[in-house]
Amino acid sequence: MTALLEVEDLRVAYGKIEAVKGISFSVEAGQVVTLIGTNGAGKTTTLRTLSGLLKPLAGTVRFEGETLTGTPAHKIVKLGLAHSPEGRHIFPRLTITENLQLGAFLRKDAAGIDKDIQRAYDLFPILGERRGQAAGTLSGGEQQMLAMGRALMSRPKLLMLDEPSMGLSPIMMQKIMHTIRELKSNGTTILLVEQNAQAALSLADCGHVMEIGKIVLSGTGQDLLHDESVRKAYLGED
Ligand code: ATP
Repeated sequence: MTALLEVEDLRVAYGKIEAVKGISFSVEAGQVVTLIGTNGAGKTTTLRTLSGLLKPLAGTVRFEGETLTGTPAHKIVKLGLAHSPEGRHIFPRLTITENLQLGAFLRKDAAGIDKDIQRAYDLFPILGERRGQAAGTLSGGEQQMLAMGRALMSRPKLLMLDEPSMGLSPIMMQKIMHTIRELKSNGTTILLVEQNAQAALSLADCGHVMEIGKIVLSGTGQDLLHDESVRKAYLGED
């Protein structure tokens, strides 16, 4: 069986700076795969390249066996790859409902869209309660929920989440991680980029540790969680 997403020897540069230096990994349908690593390791660059926002220097990305290299971002969304970006990028002046509707911009099935908006409210009740308010009035954690809800509105086959726990209180972070577990148990395939290695590895089937543009270690979430070098470098243990 071919993997849902296959990344082979991907290299991405900003001018002369090579931010991603030949990484390979795959994501099977139904899995949660996480990329962890410190600031500047190249995680965001990887996601932005998979979404078609950055052009790789070299390497191949295949989604359901189809090569994506050179495919424009909107076509990639249409193929079923959604991206909830770092820093959220919600539209602060639009209402919560309008933000969710924008996530479905490529769909034409009005009834299905309404149903999925309801599903987002079921997943994140606070969004339903405040549906008519400007999204800019939401707290950081709530904006993160909205960004995830919006990414789900395209009914993705693969959901890419960039640092969903960034800047959140521990309680909010737990809520977000709980939701990721819920999405996983509903069969959503997720590629999760996180600085919070503990949280990400605890729920991931598989993880890759990135350091300065390379994958330096791979394993199951549990293996990495118990790996001594990972514990020292990323879980704050001596
Ligand atoms: P973070 O968690 O801080 O976002 P990251 O692992 O996601 O880290 P990237 O954001 O992918 O890392 O950055 C990888 C490298 O590319 C870093 O050295 C960064 O400074 C550099 N970089 C990122 N964006 C740009 C850009 N627009 N122009 C030039 N260099 C960039």
